[in-house]
Amino acid sequence: MTHDLAQAEVDLAAVAHNVGVLAAHTPAAVMAVVKADAFGHGMLPVARAALAAGATWLGVATAAEALALRAAGVRAPVLSWLHSPRTDFAELVAADVDVSVPSVAHLDAVATGAHQAGRPAQVHLKIDTGMARNGADPAEWPQLVTRAAALERAGLVRVHGIWSHLYEADRPGSPGTTAQQDAFASALIRAMAAGLRPPLRHLANSAAVFSTPSTHYDLVRTGLALYGVEPVPGREHDLRPALTVTTEVAAVRRVPAGTGVSYHHAYKTARPTTLALLPLGFGDGLPRVTAGRAEVLLGGRRCRVVGRICMDQCVVDAGDLPVAAGDPVTVFGPGELGEPTVADWAGWAGTNPHEILTGLGGRIPRHHRSHDRTRQLTGRH
Ligand SMILES: *Cc1c(COP(=O)(O)O)cnc(C)c1O
Repeated sequence: MTHDLAQAEVDLAAVAHNVGVLAAHTPAAVMAVVKADAFGHGMLPVARAALAAGATWLGVATAAEALALRAAGVRAPVLSWLHSPRTDFAELVAADVDVSVPSVAHLDAVATGAHQAGRPAQVHLKIDTGMARNGADPAEWPQLVTRAAALERAGLVRVHGIWSHLYEADRPGSPGTTAQQDAFASALIRAMAAGLRPPLRHLANSAAVFSTPSTHYDLVRTGLALYGVEPVPGREHDLRPALTVTTEVAAVRRVPAGTGVSYHHAYKTARPTTLALLPLGFGDGLPRVTAGRAEVLLGGRRCRVVGRICMDQCVVDAGDLPVAAGDPVTVFGPGELGEPTVADWAGWAGTNPHEILTGLGGRIPRHHRSHDRTRQLTGRH
């Protein structure tokens, strides 16, 4: 059930370009984080484009995402990081998926899975360095690394990585990041003392790639920047936003001053104006809280979304612009033609770009485009 009046164009050449930008900022290997359907961009096309452009790892949150990559024939290394001890680890091990391990309970479940699969599990032990989210409690770490070393000797696991996640790498110079790096270094020393020799140590997300080189270690896990959104607001790294959402005006109305628009008449027209109906609403991922602030590009101009955003539709005040039903509308895109960006929408919604991208509804069809001849020919970025 996809929309016939709205679409998302995914510029895979931009994804490839962004992998290049990331790789130019680090000697570490680049993991393309393609969880949540590649932040709404389409997991498989993005994974393939990122790998072709030089990313060597894929990162996903769930077992189902990892297995979907394998089922589609993607052979590159994949790390999956969100499981409970009840997860079917045998299936992941059999599919050659690396799994994150945040506790002894998880480790034992993984070892059982490896036994069932008849081959060692490749694990990345995760230490909580200060985020208090998903990772081993530092108090449990000595036990976790000791047990992992024993299971490694038993041939049931191979400790491929040790890792953690930063909670505010988007604030360059944060003392929190420094403290996390110290905690990570201590965890690595403890793991070495237990006899582990993990080839991959990883800590950095997109923001840290640009803001904190000392976090790069062997691998960087990049999501947001891969999709062309600046992870540190205000900084410019020649990233190219990959997603453009467009629609068309479904209908227009010329209305007098004082016309109340949409539910509860939250907006009243100040003068005679043209209202353009857009066939997109909060059911498609346009956050309801952005009404009155959000803008779209219509007729070459920024026009404001007014009145309550509904589930499937919203209204734009086009003023005296000569707009007609069928006119093209850009909801967000790279910003080069004056259209809002995903960062603009995040600002209007009071959230981060990740939430806008992953919130885009499934009924907006994604079209993937691999070659951007205009940009290549003109050398524009
Ligand atoms: C989502 C995620 C990433 C990617 O983060 P960005 O800030 O989008 O680069 C990296 N690591 C983990 C553990 C994640 O969950």
